[in-house]
Amino acid sequence: MPKFKQLYQLLLTDDVATPAQFHLPKPPSTDWIGLVHTPDYIQSYYYGTLDPKAQRRIGLPWSPALVKRTCTAVGGTILTAQLALKYGLACNTAGGTHHAFPSYGSGFCIFNDLAIATRVLQHLGLAQKILIIDLDVHQGDGTAFIFQDEPSVFTFSMHCEVNFPGTKQKSDLDVPLPVGMDDDAYLQTLARYLPDLLSNLQPDLVLYDAGVDPHASDRFGKLALTDTGLYRREMQVLSTCVAGGYPVASVIGGGYSDDLKALIYRHSLLHRAASEVYRQYQL
Ligand SMILES: [Zn+2]
Repeated sequence: MPKFKQLYQLLLTDDVATPAQFHLPKPPSTDWIGLVHTPDYIQSYYYGTLDPKAQRRIGLPWSPALVKRTCTAVGGTILTAQLALKYGLACNTAGGTHHAFPSYGSGFCIFNDLAIATRVLQHLGLAQKILIIDLDVHQGDGTAFIFQDEPSVFTFSMHCEVNFPGTKQKSDLDVPLPVGMDDDAYLQTLARYLPDLLSNLQPDLVLYDAGVDPHASDRFGKLALTDTGLYRREMQVLSTCVAGGYPVASVIGGGYSDDLKALIYRHSLLHRAASEVYRQYQL
């Protein structure tokens, strides 16, 4: 998929980040993926032996290149979380596969990077209490399911109420939004929840899924945010976390448009906001 490579190139071309600010992830071991996913599913996906129905549910054709990309993205989110603990703020240029469940993938999501990163960091003793803020326009159903009985992980999903998935899971906090919600209403809704969530939970780490599919021109979104609204959202989330002293690791989440250039710019708003917050707070 050219999206990830072009995002990387745009961040360099526009001087949002220098080459030295990029870190290369290692693919995670199957043991780490197995902290979330079942051995059968991991093996079948690795070797391309999923049954056709399970493959269709993912919605992406299997290939060795896709296996590599999937594992690199998961490794990227783990690395992003580790860097966030070190620097206060870090962003992946991929990630946000929140529809993946322990034994199957769904909605273009194969392995749940947010859940794997959470479990790996806990396993390594680097963080215990983790808040997952999921602002992709679709509910983070896989993540909600995985952590439904896990008191150390709080899942917060703000999503369009009538959008995919048809059957919603129960996050620790779900905020369903009506079709067509615009920038101001969206940002006011977010401001009603975010500061209290952080001060009540006091997480060791925040994982933030910054899907850009709430954008008005997104193919699947059904909300009506603008580029400016998305930038304001990223500033709001990142500066609220950083100002409170909570390390935040972000992933890019979903975004769907026939205009690839506009879409990549939209994803880069996260990194533009992160650079600004990094500078403002002198991290
Ligand atoms: Zn989405």
